[in-house]
Amino acid sequence: MSIDQDAETRHILDCFRDRLKQIIQVEPLLDQLHFLGQDRKDKIRAKLRADGDISAAALLIDEILQTQHDKGWPRELVTALETAGCTHAVNYVRNSPPEPTEEAENDSCVRLIDLMQLTLVNMKTTDVCAQCWSLGLLTPEDKENIMKATENHGNINGARVLLKRLVKNEAGWFSKFLQALEETEHRELVRELRGEPCNEDESMSVEIRTVEEGEQTCLALAKETDPVLNGSMPVVSANSSLLSEDLDSSVDGSVLGASAENEDVDMYNGQEEEEGDPTEDDDPSARTIELRDYQMEVARPALEEKNIIICLPTGSGKTRVAVYITKEHLERKKQMGQPGKVVVLVNKVPLVEQHYKAEFGRFLKHQYSVERVSGASQLKISFPQIIEQNDIIICTAQILENSLAKAKTGDEDGIKLSQFTLMVIDECHHTKKGYAYNHIMIRYLKQKHKNQLLKKQGKSPAAIPQILGLTASPGVGGAMNQQMAEQHILQICANLDAFTIKTKTLGEEEAKTPYKRIARAEERKTDPFGDVIKKIMDEIHTHADLLPSCEPGTQNYEQWVVQKEQNAAKEENQKVRVCAEHLRHYNEALNQSHIIRMSDAFRYLDKYHNEELKTKSSPDDEGTVTITDTERFLFTLFKDKKAKLEELMGKPEYENNNLAKLKSIILKEFSTREVARGIIFTKTRLSAQALCQWIQENPKFDEVGVSASYLIGGGDQSVVKPMTAAEQKDVLQKFRKGEINLLIATTVAEEGLDIAECNVVIRYCLVTNEVAMIQARGRGRAEDSSYTLVAEAGSGVEERESVNEYREKMMSKAIAKICKMNRADYEKKIREFQIQAIMEEKVKIKKKQQKGMMKDPPSKISLSCRDCSVFVCSGEHLEMIENMHHVNVTEQFRKLFIVRENASLQERLLDYETNGVIACKNCGQQWGSMMLYKSIECPCLHIKNFVVTYDSKKKIYNKWGDLPIRFPAFDYTQHADMLVEDSEEEDTDGD
Ligand SMILES: [Zn+2]
Repeated sequence: MSIDQDAETRHILDCFRDRLKQIIQVEPLLDQLHFLGQDRKDKIRAKLRADGDISAAALLIDEILQTQHDKGWPRELVTALETAGCTHAVNYVRNSPPEPTEEAENDSCVRLIDLMQLTLVNMKTTDVCAQCWSLGLLTPEDKENIMKATENHGNINGARVLLKRLVKNEAGWFSKFLQALEETEHRELVRELRGEPCNEDESMSVEIRTVEEGEQTCLALAKETDPVLNGSMPVVSANSSLLSEDLDSSVDGSVLGASAENEDVDMYNGQEEEEGDPTEDDDPSARTIELRDYQMEVARPALEEKNIIICLPTGSGKTRVAVYITKEHLERKKQMGQPGKVVVLVNKVPLVEQHYKAEFGRFLKHQYSVERVSGASQLKISFPQIIEQNDIIICTAQILENSLAKAKTGDEDGIKLSQFTLMVIDECHHTKKGYAYNHIMIRYLKQKHKNQLLKKQGKSPAAIPQILGLTASPGVGGAMNQQMAEQHILQICANLDAFTIKTKTLGEEEAKTPYKRIARAEERKTDPFGDVIKKIMDEIHTHADLLPSCEPGTQNYEQWVVQKEQNAAKEENQKVRVCAEHLRHYNEALNQSHIIRMSDAFRYLDKYHNEELKTKSSPDDEGTVTITDTERFLFTLFKDKKAKLEELMGKPEYENNNLAKLKSIILKEFSTREVARGIIFTKTRLSAQALCQWIQENPKFDEVGVSASYLIGGGDQSVVKPMTAAEQKDVLQKFRKGEINLLIATTVAEEGLDIAECNVVIRYCLVTNEVAMIQARGRGRAEDSSYTLVAEAGSGVEERESVNEYREKMMSKAIAKICKMNRADYEKKIREFQIQAIMEEKVKIKKKQQKGMMKDPPSKISLSCRDCSVFVCSGEHLEMIENMHHVNVTEQFRKLFIVRENASLQERLLDYETNGVIACKNCGQQWGSMMLYKSIECPCLHIKNFVVTYDSKKKIYNKWGDLPIRFPAFDYTQHADMLVEDSEEEDTDGD
């Protein structure tokens, strides 16, 4: 031990003082430090009690620095730090601090934990703690402290201690922590920490696409959601929130095989004939496209035939730029005597019409033939013919992908990428794994790759179109730090094979960012209504011997109860299953009562009970459906508490404070503005409807001139009747005209839809990811617009908004940096990503082929009722219609169910219609729908209503596609023949 080492350690402690005080655990360290006098230790301990860890750590460092110690103290310090689990601090003291980038990354993880603290403390602390310990993130003493804090001061306090401890670990702790959360079933938290879209993110409600399993409406609504949500996520979270605008989770982006073949089924009637052109564009001068300087600047590389992404905020005319590029492109082709053809791809059906009317058609149809096609169009001629006959085609990505897939299989109905010379991709941030855009771009990348080989061999390559991507914000994909944000954006650039990404640089006509305000509602002090619901829930817990590990009203509870229901179904425990089902609805009502009126939450419960009661009645007085004791208990329980709930909901003083806050904001905005046009974003359809009703019923709003309507997505949900595309259009029309001046919308309106300019944007108790936030804010385009976030203090909404803002800043920085990247580096990076994507695709195809070969025969499975466990049928009796509907037309099956009318389910399609639901004769559980297919009645089974016995194991599936079983196609002729024979017999009988 030299003097040098003494001096050096002192120097290090001094240098890293600020860092070290953050990461030292004072208490366990003091026990180990023998070179410090007892009086000094006491002083530090006193500081610890009074001012906390950081101050105490600072004092500890000062005390070490200020006094002389025995020889060998630096070594003792290092050993002590190691024993106390301060390995991160050890690295600094040993003068081997992490690399600056690593340090910065770690800092952003720490910051994220801090921002998300309020959400994170709801974790199941003991579970997470045990897991973190086994992953080496905690010392045994840490674990004991956390467990003690949880036991003595509750889960939340325990969680706080745990989080405080975790962030003191050396780099790498964050991914281990995510792992621990994942292993303890905190997927929701993991998703939030990763910044993945929340499940309320209804991004694709209106795109109509037939899915593999035409559940409920046969016309299922596609949702292009994160693959994590759809494919690989376990069933428990797939459908986790009852009411959120989460669409049919049976849609799987990766199972495009089946849906691809079926898109034409969607070409249903109902699209009105062309309305004629909007009058405003009759004036030829309105057809000239004039770009502003910044628009011209971002367009420039595209005019030089380069692939680019244009990133401009909502309202800054990025579609207009695309129209201009399209026009220039076609003109240049014409001059050069080459054919030119442009396809404009969108991700939502209404955008097809919108882009046609407001942009491409309006400016270009006088010069070029422009046509639009969506899943909702009724095609008079085939899609390839439309492509053939027009210069500009606007269509949904899925339609193009389907036709490209057909060409691959040699179908003459197919089309090839080489037929286009320019491909415009709207909202191009959706070009990522699992999305239709990406399927198209993978085809493009493969061709490009192949072309390079062909060139080497001296052969002529196939033409590929120029790519133009448009987006308001590419997002950062949940990045934790600058580097990851850059990777994410580079990945999107690679997916679109972009030469560069162009955005408006600061200073140039600054984008209008509306003034932002946070309206913090006070925490609810008394909630007798919620207390009654919790009491009911407790009675159900007792009845079914359930011990929830988390508080009702939380996301964790939701997950817990969903899991319980599934396990109970598999274990054939009807009592627990039905209790869990009811608990889930109570939990939802409890959640809703913090956002909407108590009476709305009550009505939701009341409706649920009435409908459940109805399923227990048998049609035609057959009287076969039995009510179990548990069900009787549950119905009586609600009946008994009804009066109390109704009494409490009549007392406005118990209402949640969010509503009051919202009310004062609306009144203020609408009374102080000359012209107010507002939009309120809310999470669920139920809340959108309820808020609208609340506004309409309250004369105060009428006095300041508020005229409200709601705007929600399509797609069937049992709770709230969906809005059809025509209804949506009608509302938007009225909003544009000013007949309605306040829209209450679910996230359906966040992206893309052409909603008239607003000057009041309110996000009501709602936070999604940074992309959605930027888009919602972009709705306020008028000069004087305001953007308000209404959130209850302590609800975690506000902090998540700050996470989004943090990510937004990272995004802008990342884009700026990518723009400045050295060309060779950029191209190398992009190429790496692309090769990787092509390889992954190859692996995927191989896997799919293997899976296809490994399919089991239908006799491997049998179905039983999810509720009462009665045997339903063997897989042998199932047949498939249109590759998606699973029907059982056998006589023995027919004896097992009852048919119930259901007007909202009636759907008329080309070849079939649905009328009514089929339900278990024994318990009333819904099984599926009755489908009339080419005049044959086919009971159609929805797999989620059954427990599947597969290789003598009981399993639950959300979609048929998850079953590796090949069912035979429905033999129409055979069944029709039998039917004809039957009816002939009847005829003879009648004679
Ligand atoms: Zn049943």
